[in-house]
Amino acid sequence: MKAYIAGKPILSTTDWPSSVCCVVFFTGCNLRCKFCFNGPLLEFDEQYLVDLERVYKELDEHRYLIDGILVTGGEPTLQPDALHAIGEWTHQHNLKFGTMTNGTKPAVLLQLLDANLLDYVAVDIKTIPNEKEYAHITQTKHEILPAINETIALLKSSKINYEFRTTLVPSLIDKIPQLEKILKWIGKKNYVLQNFRPTDTVLDPSLKTAFSVEELDQFRQFAKKKRLITRF
Ligand code: SF4
Repeated sequence: MKAYIAGKPILSTTDWPSSVCCVVFFTGCNLRCKFCFNGPLLEFDEQYLVDLERVYKELDEHRYLIDGILVTGGEPTLQPDALHAIGEWTHQHNLKFGTMTNGTKPAVLLQLLDANLLDYVAVDIKTIPNEKEYAHITQTKHEILPAINETIALLKSSKINYEFRTTLVPSLIDKIPQLEKILKWIGKKNYVLQNFRPTDTVLDPSLKTAFSVEELDQFRQFAKKKRLITRF
């Protein structure tokens, strides 16, 4: 089987909490988030089409160093068969399997959950639960909140580890009342705040700076009060 995958898997100690994992980057995405720094990975470009056998060989080189394999992107759920296949390979090699997603394909997650292939899922919560706001940030014309709501409900009712993550971005997600609205929507459990990473590949070139350590303090205080997780 072939899949659109960028580069070789990389080792990570930060992408999956309390786990050392190999991260596989699927290309292609159905959103165009203004703060996305994976611009070159958002298309299904022929140059990224690789045989999964090659990926398994690369993963096998790290097998004895890691706890699991995490597929990120792009949006991994747009290639459900390849995601399923890598999940099966991972479990056959006694490793944990996880993925990161924008939450727009709950049916794919459900299939993976039904097959007992998922051990961990991280979902990006881009903004408050409002279609206009989501459309503004993700630059999509389609209604996506019903799917994201389904994903949230699915993970909350599952027995696997999951996280909901919001990226703080100056001029987009930069106010405590926005976070209050998100908390009302998804609850406090497993909710993570992270800082924006400005790079040359960020989709909206007007987004050039992240919050400074001092500016992050208000969010740190808020997170402490609400018992949220911060990664900054
Ligand atoms: S941030 Fe994630 S969901 Fe948004 S465009 Fe980038 S890869 Fe897609």
